[in-house]
Amino acid sequence: MTDLPHPPAPAALRTEDGRPLQLHRIFCVGRNYADHAREMGHDPEAEPPFFFMKPASAAVPSDLTLPFPAATGQLEHEAELAVLLGAGGADIEPAQAEALIWGCAAANDLTRRDLQAQAKAARRPWDMAKGFDASCILGPLREGPMPGPEARITCDVDGIPRQEGALGQMIWPVSHVIAHLSRLVTLQPGDLILTGTPAGVGPIAPGQSCRVTIEGLEEATVTYA
Ligand code: MN
Repeated sequence: MTDLPHPPAPAALRTEDGRPLQLHRIFCVGRNYADHAREMGHDPEAEPPFFFMKPASAAVPSDLTLPFPAATGQLEHEAELAVLLGAGGADIEPAQAEALIWGCAAANDLTRRDLQAQAKAARRPWDMAKGFDASCILGPLREGPMPGPEARITCDVDGIPRQEGALGQMIWPVSHVIAHLSRLVTLQPGDLILTGTPAGVGPIAPGQSCRVTIEGLEEATVTYA
């Protein structure tokens, strides 16, 4: 008999005050800012929130230099507020949802947009467009309530502004995102939810750095070799 396989240790994620952090699952909401829904060719008023996932192993901390992702000629940034749940549940009411949040962070929902376009055209799942290695850059988690609706969310590539919005521009506020998701799965402590991106998504090339900022939180930055 040989030893059972040992999966690699997860990436060293941390809180703002330096505590190590382990994620359970990563849920992402699609098209949650009206201007981004329009830029992707959709009517922002037409649909309830929808979700996709990344493996928890896709999350890596900020400030790393990474190899450029495989199998894409169109890597794109999506600046997002990430919320980490400290408690779970099913069929949660929006008024109760914010009490589940342990803390939040700036995140980058990296996307192989060419693979996503192929998947959409072929009516196939998005997993390989969204759930690839190191596809979630996660800034240090800050314990406590979310930044307010006026907080700015931005993304720049090599210092050139690409995305700019405010958290209050979400179509579905975070409390409603959590409520909807909790009707699809039983939420659990350690689940991370990426809450959608404002307009201005665009490409990152090898050799470039991409920085996501949210007022009140530390940055989520990645540099590609
Ligand atoms: Mn996204």
